[in-house]
Amino acid sequence: MTPAEARVDLSAIRDNVALLRSHAPGALTMVAVKADGYGHGMAAAARACLEGGAERLGTAYVREALQLRAEGVTAPILSWIIPPGEPLDEAVSADVELSAGAPWLVDAIAEAAGRTGRVARVHLKADTGNGRGGSPIADWPALVDRALARQAEGTIEVVGLWSHFACADIPGHPSIDTQLGAFDEALAIAEKAGVGGSHVIRHIANSAANLTLPRARYDMVRPGIAAYGLSPIPELGDFGLRPAMTLTARLALVKRVPMGSGVSYGHLYVTDRETKLGLVPLGYADGILRHATGRAEVFAGGRRRRIAGRVCMDQFVIDVGEDPLTEGDEVILFGDGSQGEPTAQEWADSLGTITHEIVTRIGSRVPRVYR
Ligand SMILES: *Cc1c(COP(=O)(O)O)cnc(C)c1O
Repeated sequence: MTPAEARVDLSAIRDNVALLRSHAPGALTMVAVKADGYGHGMAAAARACLEGGAERLGTAYVREALQLRAEGVTAPILSWIIPPGEPLDEAVSADVELSAGAPWLVDAIAEAAGRTGRVARVHLKADTGNGRGGSPIADWPALVDRALARQAEGTIEVVGLWSHFACADIPGHPSIDTQLGAFDEALAIAEKAGVGGSHVIRHIANSAANLTLPRARYDMVRPGIAAYGLSPIPELGDFGLRPAMTLTARLALVKRVPMGSGVSYGHLYVTDRETKLGLVPLGYADGILRHATGRAEVFAGGRRRRIAGRVCMDQFVIDVGEDPLTEGDEVILFGDGSQGEPTAQEWADSLGTITHEIVTRIGSRVPRVYR
């Protein structure tokens, strides 16, 4: 027994990946398992994704990919955030595919490959309008040329051409068409320069595009949040996805207090009657945002209760009234909603954020328990 745990239903991840695949017939699926599998536990999530039919995995950092390799995951993995000084030799040795959006990085990858005596598999990234990673289209021909030169010397092989959407979760946003146009232009430039063949995978679609933009699927889709059962476009519903994570805690203390009792730091909640308070042993150090103070709801004793007063580092309080709750009783912070508990989407809505932030912040003190 632990004060709190995040229960992860791996069958939900498997089913969600299968559902995502059914929306992208003919395309490969690379699931993003960065940030500890969106908080679900990276290796377990990765295995569930592969069982659900994903052919590939994606991580932000090289170290995340190396961790998957250390845990015995052999599927192809692409890593895409690579500042100077990353362990590229190890990455190439471990068959981790690497994204490059600038010539210096192509060179660094090629040099690592030269040292290890292996051919590095590289995905060239174009910035088609997200304004984040990747090469601006103006610099793209030079990036392609550098990659082709390195490919000719035998140190790298270009196996992917890719980009990332800024607004795929805003249906009809004009930037979607603009980005697709820019991506097609980047693909044409690369093809004309000599990057081609059926082994070159073209990919741009995150979860939102995987589910709503058939023309953005190209050779591979690259979902993340939807694999964990959370909607990439909440306004359009849940797409039949099943949330995989249920975050629970057990009441550490239940006690009777008089009317007028101030609760937690700052006394932001004051009891308006004699009542009982329940202490929930999770706080902002565990990813329960302090901003959830007085906002988010949890489920305990058969009904929902708003957080009473400040969320602290390790704990927060709920007012349980006269309900027969006692120490050790379960509190569900969020789950799939089937028992009446809030969902991660409701937490995100009440905090003005997205579910990505809710699930990825669950801290390392909270064990992940798999079903
Ligand atoms: C995180 C990420 C994804 C997955 O995005 P979702 O919105 O979670 O589907 C795909 N591609 C890249 C480059 C990412 O960083």
